[in-house]
Formats: sequence, structure tokens, C-alpha cells
Amino acid sequence: MVFRFRLKHILFITFTIIASLPVLILAGWVEQSALDKETRSVEEKHLLVAKNLTGDLERYVTDIESGFTLISKNLASGNDVLDTPEYLDSLFLDCIVITTKDYVIKKQVTGSSQPPITEFNKQTQKLLPSLFSDAKANKGKIIYSDLVQRDTGDTVFYLAKALDDGDFAMAMLSTKHILFAQKKVTFGRRGHAAIVDRTGRAIAHPIKSWVDTMKDMSFLPPVKEMKQGKTGVSKFYTPAMKADMVAGYTVVPRVGWGVMIPQPFEELEERAKDVQLIALAIAIVGIVLSAILSWFIASILSDPIQSVVDVAKEDENISSNKEIRLVSTAWKFIPEELRILLKSFNDMRRRLSEQTSELHAEIDHTHGEIELQNKLLYQQSIELLEANEKLKKTNIQLEVLNCTDSLTGLYNRRHFDETLEKEFSYSRRQNQIFSLIMIDLDYFKMINDEHGHAAGDHVLLEIASLIIKSVRRSDIICRVGGEEFAIVCRDTDSENVRMQAEKLRNIIERHKIVYADTEIFVTASLGSSTYQPDDSEDCSAADLYKQADSAMYESKKNGRNKATHFLDIETNA
Ligand code: GH3
Ligand code: MG
Ligand code: MG
Repeated sequence: MVFRFRLKHILFITFTIIASLPVLILAGWVEQSALDKETRSVEEKHLLVAKNLTGDLERYVTDIESGFTLISKNLASGNDVLDTPEYLDSLFLDCIVITTKDYVIKKQVTGSSQPPITEFNKQTQKLLPSLFSDAKANKGKIIYSDLVQRDTGDTVFYLAKALDDGDFAMAMLSTKHILFAQKKVTFGRRGHAAIVDRTGRAIAHPIKSWVDTMKDMSFLPPVKEMKQGKTGVSKFYTPAMKADMVAGYTVVPRVGWGVMIPQPFEELEERAKDVQLIALAIAIVGIVLSAILSWFIASILSDPIQSVVDVAKEDENISSNKEIRLVSTAWKFIPEELRILLKSFNDMRRRLSEQTSELHAEIDHTHGEIELQNKLLYQQSIELLEANEKLKKTNIQLEVLNCTDSLTGLYNRRHFDETLEKEFSYSRRQNQIFSLIMIDLDYFKMINDEHGHAAGDHVLLEIASLIIKSVRRSDIICRVGGEEFAIVCRDTDSENVRMQAEKLRNIIERHKIVYADTEIFVTASLGSSTYQPDDSEDCSAADLYKQADSAMYESKKNGRNKATHFLDIETNA
């Protein structure tokens, strides 16, 4: 079945597309920007956390410096330092030592659980010269060493300050506080803090081995930045975590320690994905709602039109006896224009129905009239046929009359002429022979004169019937004059026609005619001629007649009651 687009479908699709487009664009934009937004907000957050931690460490450094300055001053001047071990413990300072520039320990104070130092070990002795020379060069300032690992495995910083009397104050700072501070920062699944010294070595890091080995983390881009004292956000790949990371980083002033807050990028993507899913759900809901709304609007606009179409389709044969169907105008939601249109359509249908009824009545009436006319015409045609038939019969009779002699019933002179012409043409075409006999009654005028005209007529009739009886059926007998007869003899040569003529003459001579008790005898003079196809090239029908007539006059001339053939005249001559 072929799907045909209807108005409703077109409206529905158009409305849905128009309504869905903004939703789709919005959802697409939300989906696109979700990751960017997440990244931006995380960058800010990470930097903030880094700054907070840096602030904490900065305050710690300040505390250390003021503690170190105070205690070293007291020690150098021989003041009371009774509560100092607990104080040192609180600052995670293992010890503070006053030493000569030749590294001879003059005084010292240690944390509560720390053993006193008798002499500097080799590792320390190696480190002190550069530290003291820096301190001497920066008088009044506290100088920090790089991160150092002690024999015990702990990592520490050495602090040095040049004293006025040429001695040096030195402190050993444990990294415990830094480790605590680092541990406190943890978020997401793998979000953490990492703290490095100014050379980029790991002070505190979630990977313990990195801390234990003071891993040089300078290969990481944010560490490189921190070593230059910069603050910011960086995205980078870390082989240790096997992940792309985003990190906020900053540096603790004075000591140059770098604080970095990294988080795997995939965690951000996961969170962005949640937003994307929500955007997708909103888009789907939006499209479904717009589809429902579009279907509703399309129905409002197209259903009334469809109902007009349905009724119009049924409408192919409105008949007077069929009740007309009207379109419903009782739609709940329908634009006013359409309601008016439906009403006008119904009115139009009613008018059309009325006009059709009138038309049908008129047609019925006309039909009756036509039927009546047809009947009349039929009757007239039958009458006409009958009249035709009669006319035909009359014509035939007329035709017979036309070629018949009224007295004897034989063919008349006119027919004789036609027959002779026809016979002549036929015989010439077919190369056939035929003969002609002419008969003239002798002294007939006398019979009329003696016995009366009626007797003459009677004689003529008798002779006619005598001839009819005496000749062949194929011979054509005509009365060509008052007492003259002619016979056209088919297939008859000169010899046969001589015999035939003689036979006739004999029969007439011997025949006794009785009229009104009176016996009447009559004789006839006969002449004959023959058409010979072979030697009659220039002969015509008229010639043949003349020949027979001449032969007949020859018989008269020779005393009457004779039969002469034309050929015999010539022979005699
Ligand atoms: P012939 O031997 O020379 O032929 O003499 P004939 O009297 O027959 O000669 P003619 O031809 O002069 O006369 C013919 C007559 O036949 C003349 C006419 O009055 C008569 N006749 C012609 N038609 C009729 C007819 O229909 N009825 C009657 N009763 N007589 C006729
Ligand atoms: Mg005559
Ligand atoms: Mg005659």
C-alpha cells in the first residue's frame, strides 16, 4: 500500500520539528558545554584548595620561623628554655642547635622524644657549609635547605641563621606537619594533594614510595611551573596514575615549596556525563511533549477538513431519495474560520441536494414523454413498412402491365425490342446461335369486316394460345403489332427455324376457330432469320428483325400462307 501524506501528517511533522529544534539545540549546547563548565569550575576549586593549603603551610612556616628565632636567641643568650621541648614538638622541629662556624655544637635543645646531638653526621657536615654560607650572606634571614633524607629514613629540612657573634643557629624540621596537611586533602575518587620542595622532590604525596625516595617530580608540568614560583592550573598526563590530570598549583612563599591539587580528568568527564544524560533526558521529554502538542494542533486544524473530504468522497452520487450526510460542526476545539467553512459547506450540500431532486423529477417527466414519442414512432414505422410493402406489390403489377399485351397476355412490342437486344448481345458474347420468326395473319382486315371486331379479337386470342402450345418453353412469344407476332428461338439454327416456322404455318392453317357459332379459318405468312456468330460480324438486332420482316413479306408476296427464311430470299434472288 502506498503511504499518502495527509495534511495532518505534514502539520504534525512541521510543528514537531519547529518545536523540537530549540530543545535539541539547547540540549546539544548543554551537552557540549557540560565538560567545559565542569573543567572550569574544577580548575577554580583546585586552585582554591591549593591556595588554602599553601596558606596553612605559610602560617606554619611563620610559626616555625618565629619559634626558631625566639628559641635560638634564648639559647645563644643563655636564657631559660625549660618548656622548649614541647614547643618544638608542636612545631615538628626535631632540634635547634647553636654551633660555631666550624660546626662545634655549643648549645642545643631537642624535641621531647629526640636524643641530643653530640656531633653532626657526615651527611649533615656535607650540607652545612653551603647552608651557613647562604645564611652568612643573608644575615638576619632564615635559610632553608632542600629536602634531606636522614639515615633513619625520615625526611627533614635544615634551617640556618647567622648569629651576631659569628655562630650559627641551626634547626632540623621534620616533614610530619606537611605530611598531615597533605593527607587531609582528599576528594573525588582520586583527587589529592601533592607537596614538593623547591627542587621538585616529593615531600608529601599519596604514593608512599615517592615520599620515601624523595621522588623528583620535576617531570610534571605543574611542578616545573611551581619551581619557577608560579601559580595556576595545568592539565597533564601522569604515567604513575596512567591518567590525564587537571591540577591547581601554587607555591609557599619564602620556602618555595610547591603545593599541587591534582585530579584525574576522567572524574570530571564522568560528572559531565551526568549532566549530559540529564540534557538528553530533557531533550527526549521536550520532543515527546512537542510531538503531543503538535499532534493536538494538527488534529484541530486538519480533522474538520478531513471530515469535509470524507463526506465529499461519498458524495459522488447525490440522489433525491438518499438522505444527505452533513459534516459535524460540534468540534470542541476548532478555529472559528473552519467552523464557518463547515457550516457553509453543509448549506451548499443542502441546496445541491434540493436542486438535484428537482432535476431528477424533471428528468423522469421528460423520460415519460420520450417513451410516448417512441411508441408513436414505432407505430408509424410499422404503418410505413406496410405501405411500402403495398407499394412494392403495385410496382410489380405495373411492371408486368408495362411489358404485357392486354388482349393476349403475351409480351408486347416494347418488351420484344428489349428482349431482342438482350438476346443478341448475349449470343454475341457467348458465341451462340439463335433465330427469329415473324408471323402476320393473312387478310385479317377481312375477318374484322366480316365477323366484327370482337371476332377479330377472339381470333387473335386463339392464335396466341395456339402459338404458345406449339413452341418450346424457352422461346419468347410477343405480339408486336395488331395481327403480328414474333418468336425469339434460342439455340436454333436456320434449319431448325425453317422447320419450326413451317410447323406453325401448318398448325394455324388447320386450326378451326369457332366464334358465335361461326367457323373461322385463318392462315398466316411467316418470315424467319438466324443469327450466325461466325459470319454475322457487322449484324445488329435491328438487322436481324429487318431480315425476318423481309422474309415475312416475301411469303406475302408469294401468295400468303407461306413460311420463308431470309437466307432463302437471297438464294432465290
Ligand atoms: P394482308 O394479308 O395483306 O396482311 O391483309 P390484311 O387485311 O391483314 O392487311 P392489313 O394490315 O391492312 O389489315 C390489318 C387489319 O387488322 C387492320 C385492322 O383493322 C385489324 N386489326 C388491327 N388490330 C386489331 C385488333 O386488335 N382487333 C381486331 N379485331 N382487328 C385489328
Ligand atoms: Mg399486318
Ligand atoms: Mg395481315
